Amino acid sequence: MKNIDKTKFNDRTNLQIIDQLKSLAYNLWWTWNPEAALIYKELSPLIWETSNHSAVAVLRRISDAELKARLGDPDFFKRVNKILDEYSEYMSCSNTWCTQNFPELINNPIAYFSAEFGLHECLPIYSGGLGVLAGDFAKSASDLGIPFYGISLYYRLGYFKQKISDDGWQFEEYPQINTDDVPIQPLIDQNGNPVQTSVTIGHSNVKLHAWKINIGRVNVILLDSNLPENELHFRELTGRVYGGDISTRIMQEIILGIGGVKILRAIGINPAIFHMNEGHSAFLTLELLREQVNKGLTLNQAEEYVKKHCIFTTHTPVEAGHDRFPKSLIELQLSNYLKELKLSVDDIMKYGRVNEQDQNELFCMTVLALKFSKVSNAVSKLHSQVSKAMWKNLYPKVSVNEVPIIHITNGVHTPGWANVKAHEFWNKRLGYDWTEKIMDKEYWEKFTNHEIASDEELWALRNILRRELIEFVRMHYLNLHLNRVSISDLDNILSPDVLTIGFARRFAVYKRAPLIFKNFEKLVELVNSKSTPIQIIFSGKAHPRDDEGKRYIQKIINYTKDPRFYGKIIFVENYDINVARYLISGSDVWLNTPRRPLEASGTSGMKIAIHGGLHLSTLDGWWVEAYNGKNGWSIGNEQSYSNEEEQDKADADSLMNILTNEVIPQFYNRDTMGIPREWIKRIRISIQSLIPEYSSHRMVSEYVKKCYKLE
Ligand SMILES: *Cc1c(COP(=O)(O)O)cnc(C)c1O
Repeated sequence: MKNIDKTKFNDRTNLQIIDQLKSLAYNLWWTWNPEAALIYKELSPLIWETSNHSAVAVLRRISDAELKARLGDPDFFKRVNKILDEYSEYMSCSNTWCTQNFPELINNPIAYFSAEFGLHECLPIYSGGLGVLAGDFAKSASDLGIPFYGISLYYRLGYFKQKISDDGWQFEEYPQINTDDVPIQPLIDQNGNPVQTSVTIGHSNVKLHAWKINIGRVNVILLDSNLPENELHFRELTGRVYGGDISTRIMQEIILGIGGVKILRAIGINPAIFHMNEGHSAFLTLELLREQVNKGLTLNQAEEYVKKHCIFTTHTPVEAGHDRFPKSLIELQLSNYLKELKLSVDDIMKYGRVNEQDQNELFCMTVLALKFSKVSNAVSKLHSQVSKAMWKNLYPKVSVNEVPIIHITNGVHTPGWANVKAHEFWNKRLGYDWTEKIMDKEYWEKFTNHEIASDEELWALRNILRRELIEFVRMHYLNLHLNRVSISDLDNILSPDVLTIGFARRFAVYKRAPLIFKNFEKLVELVNSKSTPIQIIFSGKAHPRDDEGKRYIQKIINYTKDPRFYGKIIFVENYDINVARYLISGSDVWLNTPRRPLEASGTSGMKIAIHGGLHLSTLDGWWVEAYNGKNGWSIGNEQSYSNEEEQDKADADSLMNILTNEVIPQFYNRDTMGIPREWIKRIRISIQSLIPEYSSHRMVSEYVKKCYKLE
């Protein structure tokens, strides 16, 4: 990207500018280029806010006459042109990481199937880490120039909106997405007609149409069963993220896997690789088999073909987290489809069983995916050890260590996660091209010295971001308690000078949100310290059917009402990508307390480094690999426990010790200028050691090298 003054803008008429702004609104490129997002925000701050930041919603409500008039402001005109130049340069660039390193891939697209994509807050078609990872994957695939097609479902009711009752219980609302207000468009063919396909579910032929999301240079295609030709219960099938029971689940997965392959064929895409992000999409292997058998291959040959073209990523170290279906359900929903494949239900059951002869074993989507993939991987080193042990019976001929599940540790799309203020800060100090050097380790080495940014500047950034988070939380509080709050009441909600700890993620029980309350009296003391206080902000949703997770939320809500914690421990409702962005940028310390080894990787802790946040976590998932003693802190050690209570106690004690003896004293240890030098030194090491390694660019490039190699 270029400096604004040096740029010679492409000549555009006002009409062309308006057209291009509309077209850019439909490309999520603007979500990781905040100068572009700011243009839409500025056009109508109110619509921007009420649409959860949708450029499409803003432009729909601004007349061409107003747009034309607004372009009469020379400064605005200049900024819009600069962005449009950058955008067109990005879109037309023919010299990418992929063309330079893996040119043979260019005409061999990757199809990446994922039940959820977390791309932006205005598109609530994700529930948590898996979706956010898929979203970051797509953005990095675009940046690196990988020919990539994402496949998912269009959840018109999305994942739920979280509301909390007066007694602290989560309930769920499903507001319908207004398709006209979000950056998705109908998938059409060359003649402009909507593309359709269909899948066989039970005895019915379910018609599907599809939507397209542009993510820079790549697309995600969303399948949708909501067509008037379908019976009502089929129309609602793709309504909610992981909605309903296992019966809904298997039907959604038929649409994702089988429908996904069919929609790609319908638009003439012939992927070289089918990447299953988690087992939900594993039925795609059956459709690939069917295609090959129809072409005249024997079943054996067809199986070999499928194994050459599929790869699989597992994300679940918990047995219960893997989709399993009883034979009766497979029979009910798939037996008709299987006729085309000339296979019986019993034949298919073998594909989904560890022990093929065991009539009682359920059909497991993970097993299906593992059996048909040429490479399978876990998402961190520790997770690959856990996965190898979990699936060792599938590979009776090799030892546990030789079970073929490699690891590719997750990463995050840092330009997309960096707060606007952080972008401005690094643009000024590193130049606009820092976002293009994300995985260049040498580049980030320089953060250990002071040439790039002084301690004072980094400390200023921390204070800007902390204040922004606190004002966001206060605004949230104001909205919740409208009419009952005076401005001065807000002074009692958090303090911009206090060490701020963030904890936000799905409220899955193993993540142990209430762990810090285990040493209750000690926590009361820390929070209420006169000289070195701490404050904690919680946020997160429990799965609609996870009552234990909901009880954890209730527990924390009750603590926030305790006078000893009031205004100092806060719960922010309706965790989503937007809330996440405030929390990961404003928190001084990011707390993560999964019960080892149940966190496959975790990614939220990777998003904080660019903001100067520091990670405090158990040595689980990615953090065992990343922690070097100086770039954050660890809770506990690498010990394994057989007893959960014992483990929780040890970790809770360790957490308190680290907070009391290291984290808090270092934060408040200021020199005469008021700067915490040791703290900032830790920030520098965190930036330098974490940003290049835990970026999704590094992750995607590793998938290319280890999994997408062509045969
Ligand atoms: C990053 C992110 C996650 C994943 O967080 P983990 O720490 O890996 O659990 C989940 N939800 C949202 C909204 C996120 O931004």
